[in-house]
Amino acid sequence: MKYVDEFRDGELAKNIAANIAREADPQRSYRLMEFCGGHTHAISRYGLADLLPASVRMINGPGCPVCVLPIGRVDQAIRLAREHGVILCTYADTMRVPASDNLTLMRAKAGGADVRMIYSTQDALKIARDNPERQVVFFAIGFETTTPPTAVAVRQAAAEEMQNFSILCNHVLTPPAMRAILDVESSGAVEGAVPLHGFVGPAHVSTVIGSRPYETFADDYRKPVVIAGFEPLDVMQAILMLVRQVNGGRATVENEFTRAVTRDGNLKAQALVAEVFELRDMFEWRGLGSVPSSALQLRPEFAGFDAERRFSVDYIAVPDHKACECAAILRGEKRPQECKIFGTVCTPENPIGSCMVSSEGACAAHYSYGRFREAV
Ligand code: SF4
Repeated sequence: MKYVDEFRDGELAKNIAANIAREADPQRSYRLMEFCGGHTHAISRYGLADLLPASVRMINGPGCPVCVLPIGRVDQAIRLAREHGVILCTYADTMRVPASDNLTLMRAKAGGADVRMIYSTQDALKIARDNPERQVVFFAIGFETTTPPTAVAVRQAAAEEMQNFSILCNHVLTPPAMRAILDVESSGAVEGAVPLHGFVGPAHVSTVIGSRPYETFADDYRKPVVIAGFEPLDVMQAILMLVRQVNGGRATVENEFTRAVTRDGNLKAQALVAEVFELRDMFEWRGLGSVPSSALQLRPEFAGFDAERRFSVDYIAVPDHKACECAAILRGEKRPQECKIFGTVCTPENPIGSCMVSSEGACAAHYSYGRFREAV
């Protein structure tokens, strides 16, 4: 398949691995964060960490949409479905994110709440049109990739003057999260915060926002960034490019994923998002805590479609499960296998933390692929 097979060639992967091994200085350490869960999945699935020399370590970041969703946000959605009787629509992974009282949206549905899994925002609009007597709420989550379709839905609902459609907006932004991680690292405020030498930049997110927003990390934080596609050769090539930048004392933004990412990104999508959304002052992330200007809310002209206002459901912060290490894992400070309940109490069938829910989550990826490698 074009654009897939040529990026999964084993021989080429070995060549790139040999270049990395030759060029990486064994006396120094290269701690490279793959921000995005798609890269975490690719690294685990294709065993890429096994191809790297000991001096190069990949550190997973917080770029998995359901992983960064705090418990209190899922609680809000459950309250909407159970107490306000809305039809709550959301994407599949979100249905299994653990909430308070041992609940998930899936379990709330089993208990009678009207929770529906959808594939697109258009499905949610259709449900609203088909049920004019019911309130329909779309539980909107995700990074810059999933925000444009939500903006389209809100604009469509406004154009049709729909009175029974709203969104519970949890769209978050990549650059503020990267900044939060670097600020934690440089402040030394958190014990165990890892020093990072560079980022593998997101693929899909960057098709929307372009490479320009990462330039601050190179210019102001002196951290190299290489935007990479999700195929194994993309990731390996990005690692080689990062090693070369570190060796050369350079910090620039490079784009390995030129087949899809430009410096300016998708201007049409950006304009659409800017028309419908504005920055939230503060948003709580799982793992990163409250991060200023790191998420979106509806602009005042679309505020009638804001489920939080329509139903007066406030956000209430809830601590993670005591044994769960998701917060430290999302900051890159711990690995899944360092959680005491990994693979025993917490499995993809019974996730205790959010990192075990989606295939992009570090714990789920390690459970699916990495634990077998450790066993041999
Ligand atoms: S194994 Fe489960 S409980 Fe532990 S950090 Fe991962 S998701 Fe959280």
